[in-house]
Amino acid sequence: MTKRLAILGSTGSIGTSTLKVVSAHSERLSVTGLVAGSRGDALAAQARSYAPSWLYAATPEALAGQELPPHCRVLSSQDELVAAVCADDVDIVLCAIVGTAGLRPVLEAIKAGKDIALASKEILVMAGALVTAAAAKSGSRILPVDSEHCAIFQCLDQHPRHELKRIILTASGGPFHSRPELDLSRVSVDQALAHPTWSMGRKITIDSATLMNKGLELIEAGWLFGLPEDRIEVVIHPQSIIHSMVEFRDNSILAQMGYPDMALPIQYCLTYPERLPCPVQAMDFSKSLQLSFTPPDNARFPALTLARHTMRAGGAMGAVFNAANEVAVERFCQREIPFSRITEIVAKTMGACANAQGNDLAEILTADQQARIYAVTA
Ligand code: NDP
Ligand code: MG
Repeated sequence: MTKRLAILGSTGSIGTSTLKVVSAHSERLSVTGLVAGSRGDALAAQARSYAPSWLYAATPEALAGQELPPHCRVLSSQDELVAAVCADDVDIVLCAIVGTAGLRPVLEAIKAGKDIALASKEILVMAGALVTAAAAKSGSRILPVDSEHCAIFQCLDQHPRHELKRIILTASGGPFHSRPELDLSRVSVDQALAHPTWSMGRKITIDSATLMNKGLELIEAGWLFGLPEDRIEVVIHPQSIIHSMVEFRDNSILAQMGYPDMALPIQYCLTYPERLPCPVQAMDFSKSLQLSFTPPDNARFPALTLARHTMRAGGAMGAVFNAANEVAVERFCQREIPFSRITEIVAKTMGACANAQGNDLAEILTADQQARIYAVTA
């Protein structure tokens, strides 16, 4: 049977890889709806290729004058979007919107019992308690697209939870971790955007350079696998071949590996529990391959310490952590602050914003807004 997808963030790095997976398995996967931000030309071109039933652009004028396929409805509000992702003609919602805009539609889709292929880490970082509680209630499955979490999900497979000791997230370290001679207050935006192993959107690439990406992933892993921060270790693995590992109580470790290509975790989530041929390169062991592991430098890169603090604090601190980081990354990209100030601003904002309980979406969004207001001038 065909699985019908709504793709939120279809024009981005994950979104376009998702559409390639759809093309490779058009007998199994079809597109019901596509969502983007402001790039109406790219969204309309996708609509002409994949013939969705509906489209939504967060910037309303983005689709003005674009040539669209017949019978393609253009949604005009967030409410219409929420109704569309919850409708019967959607089986799975893939969320790859950068930032907070995916939170409400994803939460509502979960309440409606839809399966979610989740790339946007912001959703669990901001509202992990709400999202996991809603999924437990509705029976919606949250399938992790983020490569590390997808690796852990694959390694855990059918193993009973009480046999799990801890999980080990691998991190490439980004362009700066292996270069202690660099002064992090002087590195440029272009240097930060030159990721050594993964090709990704701009925001996540900067997050990889600060290790904030791994901080966000720590929090995401805590929610996905129900673990406290002291049962999640991070190790720097510059080759990005091992995507993460799971250690069981007998100290046996299972790892999932492959060349870095998001098509694999995306496809795994979309065809789960079945594995199908995937358009990614197979590992070539006829060439020598070195894999190395080193502990993260938490003094030079404080992001992981901040993320662990966020996990222990609970409540709405995840929303504060995420919002402050988004603002600081944007300020760095605008060349307003040096690279080294990104994590400083996050720490300062976390110290300045009182932690709310985060019991509902309104409280989470208020914490997000307050953190943004503070971080803009911090
Ligand atoms: P990109 O910047 O490449 O793409 C972001 C997408 O979100 C675009 O389609 C963009 O539309 C859309 N968008 C932005 N704002 C809005 C909005 N307000 N409403 C609707 N859509 C919006 O990001 P990535 O694909 O790299 O990352 C997406 C998410 O996946 C992030 O949360 C990231 O952390 C996560 N992720 C990414 C990985 C990767 O390899 N890239 C790996 C693991 C996780 P438009 O083009 O119109 O601006
Ligand atoms: Mg990742």
